[in-house]
Amino acid sequence: MEEVVAVIDNGAEGVGLYRTEYLYLNLDAPPDEETLFWDYREVAEIIYPEMVTIRTLDLGADKVPTRMREWGETNPALGLRSIRLCLQEDELFRTQLRAILRVSGITKNVRIMFPMISGLGEVHAAKDILNQVKQSLMQESIEVDQDLQVGIMIEVPSAVAVADLLAKEVDFFSIGTNDLVQYALAIDRANENVAHLYEPLHPAILRMVKQAADAGRLAGIPVSLCGELAAEPLYAPILLGFELDSLSMNPMAVPRVKKIIRNANLEESKVYLQEVLQLSTASKVNEYLCNLAWRRFREDFELFEDEMGRLPAANGNPQ
Ligand code: PEP
Ligand code: MG
Repeated sequence: MEEVVAVIDNGAEGVGLYRTEYLYLNLDAPPDEETLFWDYREVAEIIYPEMVTIRTLDLGADKVPTRMREWGETNPALGLRSIRLCLQEDELFRTQLRAILRVSGITKNVRIMFPMISGLGEVHAAKDILNQVKQSLMQESIEVDQDLQVGIMIEVPSAVAVADLLAKEVDFFSIGTNDLVQYALAIDRANENVAHLYEPLHPAILRMVKQAADAGRLAGIPVSLCGELAAEPLYAPILLGFELDSLSMNPMAVPRVKKIIRNANLEESKVYLQEVLQLSTASKVNEYLCNLAWRRFREDFELFEDEMGRLPAANGNPQ
């Protein structure tokens, strides 16, 4: 919530990912429908007329409320979390959906997004519950946005593999790179011991992003990219090449990424991406991008003084 004003101040168009976990983290019991309703309504009204994409609860692993810590799962990142938890704890899920749907009927600028989808079964189950909640609100004469868009996060490798099937069932994709990197490379995103192996530019990740983006485009649905990968100005020239519809990032990153994108163009970015997809390791991709930054986007990077220091001197780059 504190970041919503920064979204506008930094020139973003809408909220691509509203994480809803924070209201649950420090409480013994989940918040009630009214609390959720007013929270979501406030965000939607501040952002209006732009859209806010509200992600349903993604609790677990790196976002753990006190009571879940007691469950003692040995591998919580692969455990009962996120959409799996919501499908099991029906009441928890329905309360949140009611709050989101009620706001949608008032402000009409809300989209809903399910996290951690691993296959079609979860999409069907989540959409069934959503429809039931919608029906019951309508029976209570509570207005619901009839055009409400329902999307999913593509952040589990199995979802990438069946992205063509998923794309037929939802209104949009958002590729969640933080978890996609974690699950595809089997690197715990919160474990310092393996932090050096957490490689967003790994060729496997780039291929997966391409597969998901292509599947969405073929099915005619918008595809967004979120997670830290989207916020990195160095990567922006190739991200354009995926022909994504939007990038979602922390508000502070918006001006820098915009600066690069304004100076780039789609056709050249497609060529960069093609070249990058031929490279065999993350470090080669990184070196390519650093060279590109020096060669083609140097003036932009010089504006970001602290960025310059991060660009390693590669292949004769003047540093
Ligand atoms: C992601 O996984 O890329 C993402 C944006 O969601 P979160 O970081 O909240 O898991
Ligand atoms: Mg995630």
